[in-house]
Amino acid sequence: MSQQGDLFRKLVSHCKEYGFIYQSSEIYDGLSAVYDYGPYGVELKNNIKDYWWRAMVQMHENIVGIDSAIFMHPKTWKASGHVDAFNDPLIDNKDSKKRYRADQLVEGYMDKLEDKIEKEVEKARKRFGESFNEELFRDTNERVVKYREEYEMVRQRLATSMGQGDLVDLKNLIDELEIADPDTGSRNWTEVRQFNLMFSTQLGNIAGEEGKLYLRPETAQGIFVNFLNVQKTTRQKIPFGIAQIGKAFRNEIVARQFIFRMREFEQMEMQFFLRPGEELKWYEYWKEARMKWHLAIGTPASKLRFKDHDNLAHYANAAVDVQFEFPFGFKELEGIHSRTDFDLGSHQSLSGKKMQYFDPDLNESYVPYVVETSIGCDRMFLAMLSEALVEETVPDAQGEDASRVVLKLHPALAPVKCAVLPLVRNKEELPAKAREVFNKLKLSFLCQYDEKDAIGRRYRRQDAIGTPYCVTVDFQTLEDNTVTIRERDTMLQERIPIDRIEEIVLKRVDMKNLLVG
Ligand code: ATP
Repeated sequence: MSQQGDLFRKLVSHCKEYGFIYQSSEIYDGLSAVYDYGPYGVELKNNIKDYWWRAMVQMHENIVGIDSAIFMHPKTWKASGHVDAFNDPLIDNKDSKKRYRADQLVEGYMDKLEDKIEKEVEKARKRFGESFNEELFRDTNERVVKYREEYEMVRQRLATSMGQGDLVDLKNLIDELEIADPDTGSRNWTEVRQFNLMFSTQLGNIAGEEGKLYLRPETAQGIFVNFLNVQKTTRQKIPFGIAQIGKAFRNEIVARQFIFRMREFEQMEMQFFLRPGEELKWYEYWKEARMKWHLAIGTPASKLRFKDHDNLAHYANAAVDVQFEFPFGFKELEGIHSRTDFDLGSHQSLSGKKMQYFDPDLNESYVPYVVETSIGCDRMFLAMLSEALVEETVPDAQGEDASRVVLKLHPALAPVKCAVLPLVRNKEELPAKAREVFNKLKLSFLCQYDEKDAIGRRYRRQDAIGTPYCVTVDFQTLEDNTVTIRERDTMLQERIPIDRIEEIVLKRVDMKNLLVG
């Protein structure tokens, strides 16, 4: 298994072992692509949501939040285009009976070409050492040029066939590239056909089509249909935004890669309403703001990149993904889209209700344009864990090499902020004193009290869930009211008075650290 594959396998088992994520309905062998968040998972997820909410709503005077219902009038999805066009191209392998997304099979082929290019570059780097000119090599090496040309040809062909909904050409491309079933190697494919990703259900009191409801496939439409309510009740002036966090549901064809692609997931979306003609200015603003948000938690810039959409949706006039380098490669983490007046305009046409804003500065009414930022909370969770999970060699109590697994999460997002540990539990005074400290600290942040096992093992348990600080109550504490405080990443221990613990921990776990600058 590749190093990255190995990291991913470890991450998945770490999530289960330490109570971050469980397979849904596991006792019944699980439900595919649906997951439950465990005790530490829910804390981390709540912290991610809190960080996003504060960055959007608390930090912007002109952004307000809502929480709209999952069920919406079925016409919503007609207006938004989801009933007619929220499809993925599906292809079945006749031998393995496995189902794939045709565009993803082609993308997989392109990923392999990229890997081949990178391998050539790495080989040459080793061969030429100091004098290696990477740019020149990429432009002139025969093999690299051939791979790059092929990549570009495939990219363009995929973009055109997807853009035009040309499923026949998509199938031809798969045949021409001799793409095989990744699991079995079979090339015995069906035709490509469209598959709608919305889950539907039925209202109890209305039979037939009339009572058909959908589970929302995105939270954005709850914002659009409330645009006027919010604008009027908050007296916001354009430009202003509406933010929402909530569940979304998609009947994904291929749902692999753990929580990266789920059938039930959570989105954090913000729609920014603005004057027509100013959309590209705001699009650039939000691109920059969102990248800053990602970088603030310590994600290295090399792990993040923008990727323009090859294929603009019919309603968009600019669209970019923020991609993160997951253990399985660079993939979409967030989308930033300039959606023009498509959504409000469609709702206006279908509902017959005016979706217009009177602009006092221009003295005219118009349907606002929208720039949206849309990020999956679960994908953010996965990105953070894959960056934070580290296995390292550190000295043990005897100074020998030992390995430890540590989650180097930003302290403001870590599930538990501080663990309080009596050095030993067989002397009653120590647990009693430690409980006293714990009861005081728990008023300020999430703490954990733990007295089971040797102190070293307790430190390791806290490292594994990312707790930034461990406070140990020992015999000296009984004499002078001091404790040792151990910092997760450096493992340095310092002796401090009990009265200072709260201040030290609060300083590092404060969300403010992420919101400034
Ligand atoms: P993809 O191309 O990966 O299917 P998308 O372009 O359909 O994603 P959007 O409709 O732009 O995604 O949704 C916004 C965000 O919601 C994505 O950037 C992603 O973080 C998240 N998201 C979308 N689908 C899923 C899913 N099935 N599971 C988890 N998160 C998802």
